[in-house]
Amino acid sequence: MGKLSSLFLMSALICGSAQAENLEVPGTGRWEGMAFSSSEVDQLAQEKYDEMLSDFAANKKLDADGEATRRVQRIGAVLVASSARFKPSTAAWKWEFHTTADANVDALSLSGGKIMIGSAFVDSLKLTDGELAMLIAHEMAHAIAEHQREELSEASQIKGGHLTAQVLMADLELDLGLQIKLYALSSTQEAEADELGMLIAHEAGWKTGDMVSFYRKLAASDQGAVESHAYPSMASRLSMATGMQRLFASMDN
Ligand SMILES: [Zn+2]
Repeated sequence: MGKLSSLFLMSALICGSAQAENLEVPGTGRWEGMAFSSSEVDQLAQEKYDEMLSDFAANKKLDADGEATRRVQRIGAVLVASSARFKPSTAAWKWEFHTTADANVDALSLSGGKIMIGSAFVDSLKLTDGELAMLIAHEMAHAIAEHQREELSEASQIKGGHLTAQVLMADLELDLGLQIKLYALSSTQEAEADELGMLIAHEAGWKTGDMVSFYRKLAASDQGAVESHAYPSMASRLSMATGMQRLFASMDN
């Protein structure tokens, strides 16, 4: 083996080991197996988010409600500060908060802190600031827990480990069979985003009653998805929220 090829092999091995890692989710302590690097997934997420911003802007659906956008960005900024106490590296993230008038979007989050909130969804539930903070904190928790990276990693394993993160990201939108195989993970991630989101909102000083009333409103509406992914039943989300409320009350006393 020539010097060049052994150097290449060594760098390939180093890259491989740098990408595959186990990561502990702050707040919940669950361990995730990662097959791709966070920088690779964040880069893909940024491209997808920028594409989404362009599409919404072209249809006059990006930040169309200036008041709603300022409200989301103001609440988001405070939550960013409290997120860093759970994961210090997030303080250096390029967090982005936007709203869309696209009725198909409730709320979503992409890797690296790219948040999109549906203004029609917020209006339909008549969310107070505290309830909106819970929704935003839930979306931020997905990013902090690196759920998109974990989802791509599990999708990679299901598909045999040979596909790139970029190909898998496209597959995840179109391959129903793959989505079904990821149902258990999606459900775990939703419950985790609820829990970590409540911890972040509590750290930021929001009242636990607001968090519970957010889940009560979600349960009362038919819009329990928050995202199009799998999610735990509204009854279990609401009971988790009231359980967390009791926990916070016991900690604060
Ligand atoms: Zn979610």
